[in-house]
Amino acid sequence: MYCIYLKKRKNKPFCKLLDREITFAECSAENTVNNCREYETKNFKNSFYKKSTLNKKSPLKSGKIKKQTYKHQKADRNRASIITNNLTNCYICGKKTVNIHEIFYGSYRHTSIKWNLTIPLCLEHHTFGENAIHNNRKLDLKIKILAQTIFENKFSKELFIKEFGIDYIEKYKKD
Ligand SMILES: [Zn+2]
Ligand SMILES: [Zn+2]
Repeated sequence: MYCIYLKKRKNKPFCKLLDREITFAECSAENTVNNCREYETKNFKNSFYKKSTLNKKSPLKSGKIKKQTYKHQKADRNRASIITNNLTNCYICGKKTVNIHEIFYGSYRHTSIKWNLTIPLCLEHHTFGENAIHNNRKLDLKIKILAQTIFENKFSKELFIKEFGIDYIEKYKKD
């Protein structure tokens, strides 16, 4: 058990009462250096170490990667799709997937990933040639409208517009 005045500062144990860095030994229940007997019931030391180990490993701590970027990297790793559960075959032709395509790519790419609005596509349907979604406006809009429809059924139209700025169904229904 540790004192309620024990805080974490610069990732080190810090006593608010003494207003200086301390060691855990100084702050243990057996030690009366602080002259305080108010101990928290939770195991502070364990949570302290748990947190500081996490911070050490985290790129956030090193300052090399910005918070936002780190969040995006994590989202990139845990890619999923609300359109299909099969992420290994091209959504259009069934070929072995080469890429996961963000349906609302461009400035809404990260929002797309956030809501799992992605589909697996082979090279020909992704970036290579005239049938590729990035070169074929008709296919692009078809998939965008499908994604919006699925999103709306799951959540709402209001949320879709709030997140993606455009009502694709309304805007491109004549295309
Ligand atoms: Zn394909
Ligand atoms: Zn793409």
